[in-house]
Amino acid sequence: ATPTAILVGTGRGAQLGVLIRGPEILESTRRVDTVVLDKTGTVTEGRMRVVDVWGAGTRQPPSVAAPARPVVQPVEAPDDANHLTDAPDVLRYAAAVESLSEHPIAQAITAAGRAAGEPDTETPLEVTGFIAHAGGGVEGLVRRAHSGLALGGALNTRRVLVGRPAWLADQGVTVPAEVRAAVGQQEEAGATAVAVAWNGTAGGVITLRDRARPTSARAVAELKELGLRPYLLTGDSAGAARVAALAVGIPEADVIARVLPAEKATVVARLQAEGRTVAMVGDGVNDAAALATADLGLAMGTGTAVAIEASDITLVRGDLRAAASAVRLSRKTLRIIK
Ligand code: ADP
Ligand code: MG
Repeated sequence: ATPTAILVGTGRGAQLGVLIRGPEILESTRRVDTVVLDKTGTVTEGRMRVVDVWGAGTRQPPSVAAPARPVVQPVEAPDDANHLTDAPDVLRYAAAVESLSEHPIAQAITAAGRAAGEPDTETPLEVTGFIAHAGGGVEGLVRRAHSGLALGGALNTRRVLVGRPAWLADQGVTVPAEVRAAVGQQEEAGATAVAVAWNGTAGGVITLRDRARPTSARAVAELKELGLRPYLLTGDSAGAARVAALAVGIPEADVIARVLPAEKATVVARLQAEGRTVAMVGDGVNDAAALATADLGLAMGTGTAVAIEASDITLVRGDLRAAASAVRLSRKTLRIIK
């Protein structure tokens, strides 16, 4: 028979915004000493917005400050079928491909494209052969559909890739030093930046920003007060990760960045191999394996169904402080029945 105190404990959890899969979960919750926090959508809101679009053909370097509204730098180079140089085209082509992806980066680029008038009804861009590469970027064949006389198909079609410079290079794309530098500079400033390439050369950079959830810093402080050690885990760059970590009180030494989706679970297993009892908090499809590997998986209620299904606990309101509530509740409940 299930002790009444545990049922009361799980019932109290529901009031605190903590949905616990079953009474047995309280025991693993009580034992946790390490908590790995996914960055995007868990510590941060996961709602990125485009703050800068830069075409390598424009003279000015990308602006590093984060303006309130999306900025598309002026066109300074003529559009050419083979060279991706002007910012409006960088945004248009990237948005066309990203509209087929659901990643937070893709949602932001699609929204910025829409704000800039994409899809354009006169010369709509058609995308075929779309592929999303987890932890790397997206690609697709973008065709400019002209009304009237059609131009030669091959001339009119560009293989567009949007993603991390290192991933682009792995795909055989040439990434000029200035593009690599522009991405690096944005990342050092705490932003997320992706490069845009077509027909084999990267020529644009799109910079995005996300922000910490207002309750994240308090949640990290509460987890530390409970004696847990928080880590930040992300596929994003070290720069963007460091800025997010410092904003919520996680030391730089406990930031694990540029982790491929398939490797998030490996990071959790490595901490377990050190003898720790690990809780993982995440929201994405990317986090599912890590959530299942952890001694305790907690999903943001605002996250994907896949993450929620892989977890033991759901933080219903998407408030990270509920993770600390769960730990406190498990300690109190199990003290009563002992
Ligand atoms: P996170 O852990 O922050 O959710 P991901 O593993 O999903 O990160 O992605 C890691 C990196 O891969 C991103 O920072 C970005 O550079 C690149 N990337 C992933 N998906 C996309 C996409 N749809 N468009 C552009 N870049 C992407
Ligand atoms: Mg996430």
